Amino acid sequence: MEWKTIEKPRRGWATVPHLLNYEQTRAAFSWEEARRALDGLPQGQGLNIAHEAVDRHAAGSRRNHLALRWLSKRGEIRDFTYGELSALTNRFANLLKNLGVGKGDRVFLLAGRIPELYISALGTLKNGSVFCPLFSAFGPEPIRQRLSLGDGKVLVTTAPLYKRKVAELRASLPGLQHVLLIGTPEETRAIPDTQDFHRLMREADDRFAIPPTDPEDLALLHFTSGTTGKPKGAMHVHQAVVAHHMTGIIALDFHPSDIYWCTADPGWVTGTSYGIIAPLTHGITSIIDEADFDAERWYNILRDQKVTVWYTAPTAVRMMMKVGAEVARKYVCDRLRFIASVGEPLNPEAVVWGQEAFGLPIHDNWWQTETGGIMIANYAAMDIRPGSMGRPLPGIEAGIVRREKDGRVEVVSEPGIEGELALRPGWPSMFRGYLHEEERYKKCFADGWYLTGDLAKRDADGYFWFVGRADDVIKSSGHLIGPFEVESALMEHPAVAEVGVIGKPDPVAGEVVKAFVSLKPGHEPSEDLRREVLGFARKRLGAVVAPKEIDFVSSVPKTRSGKIMRRLLKARELGLPEGDISTLEGET
Ligand code: ATP
Ligand code: MG
Repeated sequence: MEWKTIEKPRRGWATVPHLLNYEQTRAAFSWEEARRALDGLPQGQGLNIAHEAVDRHAAGSRRNHLALRWLSKRGEIRDFTYGELSALTNRFANLLKNLGVGKGDRVFLLAGRIPELYISALGTLKNGSVFCPLFSAFGPEPIRQRLSLGDGKVLVTTAPLYKRKVAELRASLPGLQHVLLIGTPEETRAIPDTQDFHRLMREADDRFAIPPTDPEDLALLHFTSGTTGKPKGAMHVHQAVVAHHMTGIIALDFHPSDIYWCTADPGWVTGTSYGIIAPLTHGITSIIDEADFDAERWYNILRDQKVTVWYTAPTAVRMMMKVGAEVARKYVCDRLRFIASVGEPLNPEAVVWGQEAFGLPIHDNWWQTETGGIMIANYAAMDIRPGSMGRPLPGIEAGIVRREKDGRVEVVSEPGIEGELALRPGWPSMFRGYLHEEERYKKCFADGWYLTGDLAKRDADGYFWFVGRADDVIKSSGHLIGPFEVESALMEHPAVAEVGVIGKPDPVAGEVVKAFVSLKPGHEPSEDLRREVLGFARKRLGAVVAPKEIDFVSSVPKTRSGKIMRRLLKARELGLPEGDISTLEGET
């Protein structure tokens, strides 16, 4: 199906003057200029993320402005102003200092979305230590692997999580010197080799001067989602904040009065770059919801908290679509102005659904753990071509390239041709390495390009279209087929909720396309439905690209950050070992 471009108003678009003229905005842009939008540490002592995110607002007119509003699972609300956040993060920085934890030391966080997580993250950065979040639903082995690979010196976690998941590993982690437990005194008492987080916080001073911080000092260690294999530890530095701040304006349309909700968990890069850092550097209010996804709860939050900018993921959008537009229409979210999505390709169906449910399209954007910030986006001021991830941000040069055998890279300049998505290195939030994997890091670069491992194409107007991950692309009878294209077409069928598509080895075609489909409520798997969906796909995609086989499944396997794990569908289909499934949703 041909999707119509969603046009944005040209006049009277008061909120976003920038990028109305895309080329001019790009030409005028420089990272030096973007850096000047930030403060820098006093007396020229460098650049520290936590100063930009917290202290500069606490010292200025936003001191009493709401920085974080936390919604607990049980309905409790806790508010933190910039002033309060500054004092609390000072305490945590002092706490670390008192323990002898210093610059470059790794502080791991294993907790749900609770205020202590945000305070620890920012306090860690103030102290010059490196923040490394872990997703709270990880089981013991993924936790051990990451703590050990990441040389964790401190772990902040809750008493129940520690007892359930970490206590048994302690002996195998000799480098882990301090475990700080969040919980009531009853919960934390008498657990050997641990300390009480809140007691130490109370004892620590609430004044702290951030030490000189080189913009190139290590700040964040993020493990990738593990969609294509074993997660990699991507290292980021303090000057990444220049990109977080700039992209907040350009790709997320931040304005000073915004109430912003990023639904990603800080266990993933989105939840840190855009769930903690970017909104705070802008001095705006962030909503944090402790609870897991629930469509009605989410609509309630959007409405009751008067959310203006909402950053979410395709999987959440698809789950909201699954409950139907009637539910959406029960809620009037009239403050909502801008919706963006990241993490996976956003099916055109979902972009358009945003229009139906909220009267707003959903703006897809593309980036990776490695890039540290948004690289390609649909902007507020730009017409949207549903299914496209948008155009490169100012300061970002993106290209479609082919790797040659001799290690060189050929740039594909013709529009519409598939190749690997590549970026010219040099933006501030670019990762500085994969921890302990120097070779792997080096392999990501060739001929002055960073090669992303994703396949894409660019149209004549410079919009980029995601094709698939290089590892997921299907080669069938001489054709290259991106799973996303097939998944999106199947998503248009009214009974289909989610789809994962793989290439299944075939003696004649090389590979044939196979789809795993989960159904919307009210639809049951049947032979008739299978035939109908197959026919539907053939009509939309043609016989070569359409799936030859469809299996109905109750759900499609996904990472905890919501990405379809096609490699797992494939391994299961072929009876092969499942590989690293530490990030698989539902595994603990
Ligand atoms: P791993 O590298 O461990 O396999 P991962 O690549 O899923 O995991 P992330 O860094 O969290 O880990 O995800 C980045 C990837 O997610 C991108 O390389 C791309 O494949 C996919 N992605 C992110 N945003 C989009 C988008 N808007 N459209 C299509 N794909 C996207
Ligand atoms: Mg990746």
